[in-house]
Amino acid sequence: MEAVKTTAEGATKIATKNVKAYGTAAANADLNQLNIQRRKPTPHDVEIEILYCGVCHSDLHTARNEWHGTIYPCVPGHEIVGRIVSVGSHVKKFKVGDVGAVGCLVDSCRECQYCNDGLEQYCEAGQVQTYNSVDPYLGTATYGGYSESIVVHEDFVLRVPENLDLAAVAPLLCAGITTYSPLKHWNVGKGKKVGVVGLGGLGHMGVKLAKAMGAEVIVFTTSSSKIEDAKRLGADDVVLSKDEKQMARYAGKLHFVLDAVSAQHDINEYLSLLRVDGSLTLVGAPEHPLPVAPFSLIPMRRSFAGSMIGGIPETQEMLEFCGKHNIVSDIEMINIQQINEAYARLLKGDVKYRFVIDMASIKK
Ligand code: NAP
Ligand code: ZN
Ligand code: ZN
Repeated sequence: MEAVKTTAEGATKIATKNVKAYGTAAANADLNQLNIQRRKPTPHDVEIEILYCGVCHSDLHTARNEWHGTIYPCVPGHEIVGRIVSVGSHVKKFKVGDVGAVGCLVDSCRECQYCNDGLEQYCEAGQVQTYNSVDPYLGTATYGGYSESIVVHEDFVLRVPENLDLAAVAPLLCAGITTYSPLKHWNVGKGKKVGVVGLGGLGHMGVKLAKAMGAEVIVFTTSSSKIEDAKRLGADDVVLSKDEKQMARYAGKLHFVLDAVSAQHDINEYLSLLRVDGSLTLVGAPEHPLPVAPFSLIPMRRSFAGSMIGGIPETQEMLEFCGKHNIVSDIEMINIQQINEAYARLLKGDVKYRFVIDMASIKK
């Protein structure tokens, strides 16, 4: 079915088509199949048939309105890999048949200082996120990758190195870039001792990437069942964070800590692991505030920082880095019909280490 819609400004008519998706109508409702409208490609757009979409904990936080401001219906998914099935008349970067990937961003103002620096995730005008933003073309919400297809401006579509498995690449588009960006920013590399807290989707990518950058990596986990895996993923040591004695071994020892925990936890326990001038960067985004004790920071001139995904140039750089080092995510493939069960398992920390949806299942 096709329709013609009017943009938010009422200026241009944009043709749309009906696309099958999976989403939720309310914070306390399960995800179910629904229909959404996608625009037909405008001159700079590519249309991507989605092959695989990773399941990020942010999808769950948003679907359940844990960060507030969710627009319903909400169709999550921002770890997208697919096949390009049509291109607009001015598209130069891609042709039909190419593989294309989309992460957390589908547009930005392209004019502000941050966009000019390739930091579109910090766009002053507010970047357009892949889901739960206002769609500048249609005026509806943007809808993510739990769907048959997506239409994105070519500038926000990434290339995937040919040597990598496509399903296992999908999580790089959020979990990969969200960990790569702060590791690079804080100069993680040879001679640095790095802690990764929370061995989930982000955490396991953090381990692989920090290790490939040359750092010594120590994993901090609440799950004894993940100790062996952490070592297999590249960790030099693993600490069961509930065990005070094990934690004490690293007090004041680490240059950098990447915290990728999705739920409430005591951040001070991890700040105390930093050396003088060390930094803890939070990428995990639990629903409620995390109290910081002043004396967790003051005596060692420590920094407590945050970091949000990564811009388009850095995301492409991360993909090339992963191609060169043969890095992908450890995945468990699911059908879209299993998404509610997957969310329940995410809440229990029961994922090794990223669910990826085989989007062909939406046709069933
Ligand atoms: P995930 O796969 O569910 O992993 C989270 C991990 O946190 C779990 O595997 C578990 O690791 C640990 N954990 C869970 N509950 C815990 C608790 N109560 N106490 C201590 N540790 C706990 O989630 P994810 O997809 O990696 O995302 C992690 C967080 O990053 C989420 O909040 C997500 O929204 C956020 N995020 C932020 C950005 C950004 O741009 N900053 C981007 C993407 C995601 P162990 O079993 O090892 O303890
Ligand atoms: Zn994400
Ligand atoms: Zn901007």
